[in-house]
Amino acid sequence: MTKPRAELYGAPPMLLVHGGAGVIRRDMDADAERGVRAALAEALRRGHESAAAGGSALDAVTAAVVALEDAPYFNAGHGAVFTHDGINELDAAIMDGATLRAGAVAGVRRVRNPVLLARAVMEHSPHVMLAGEGAEGFAREQDIALVDPDYFRTGRRWRELQAARRQANRNEHVDHFGTVGAVALDARGRLAAATSTGGMTDKRWGRIGDSPVIGAGTYANAACAMSGTGWGEFYLRTAAAHAVCMRVAAMRQAVGEAAEAVINEEIPALGGSGGAIVLGADGALAMPFNTDGMFRGRIGNDGEPHVAIWPDEHI
Ligand code: ASP
Repeated sequence: MTKPRAELYGAPPMLLVHGGAGVIRRDMDADAERGVRAALAEALRRGHESAAAGGSALDAVTAAVVALEDAPYFNAGHGAVFTHDGINELDAAIMDGATLRAGAVAGVRRVRNPVLLARAVMEHSPHVMLAGEGAEGFAREQDIALVDPDYFRTGRRWRELQAARRQANRNEHVDHFGTVGAVALDARGRLAAATSTGGMTDKRWGRIGDSPVIGAGTYANAACAMSGTGWGEFYLRTAAAHAVCMRVAAMRQAVGEAAEAVINEEIPALGGSGGAIVLGADGALAMPFNTDGMFRGRIGNDGEPHVAIWPDEHI
């Protein structure tokens, strides 16, 4: 369990990313660990470049999440987990804290970068959330890249599905999450959050998790932005991201205290697990998790990426 942390890292722009909570030390060989660290650093650099070029917090989280969706290590885009029926169904959301505008997609099967479609929903449709075939029809209209569903497939995720099916027969739950997300604060003090996922391995019946649900896995307001990763049902039941940000905005709690209360107390008390990245408008940040590890990173205005996986790593 990590200690509550809310630290000030100076002036914006600032960007945090995660690539999921729940990594298990014995499942990570040295090659995989190097690949994950490099992919997190690259996502941080891409987000930072967009901020340094005058982009908004929204641009920074979009660029970072696209990079993580394209990397094979995480459960989003290429490398997403499989449903019970052996297909990939992707969810994503984005939110602008300054205006409370938001966009989300759920259950899409052919959209290469679901976060780009979520952003198009926010910017070019009168709606907040689109699902399934309708969402893909909108992607076509918006010239968002569609790919053959095989693009998302990796051998590792396929083997995980087989293992999950065996575990489901024994009624075991695996807390192994690889959702990706980013939160950013830009030079004008605006916050944004974005999350993208394949959901949970072996999910059934069109299951939608917390990631694309505004207020559950993703939320931003003027005071706080959060992207979560974990057992989505519990993030939905606690409206986790909204709960954290309302503690900060309305109850004036410190970011670290608010994140700790929801992620490391409320959710585990119900039987859930996971983590989150949270950023305040004052530059305070928290990255709580209650799993073995969490892929995470931050980059500040010096442009130097810092990444971590294990609980004893301080970034
Ligand atoms: N929160 C995601 C979901 O439940 C899973 C994850 O974090 O990897 O869909």
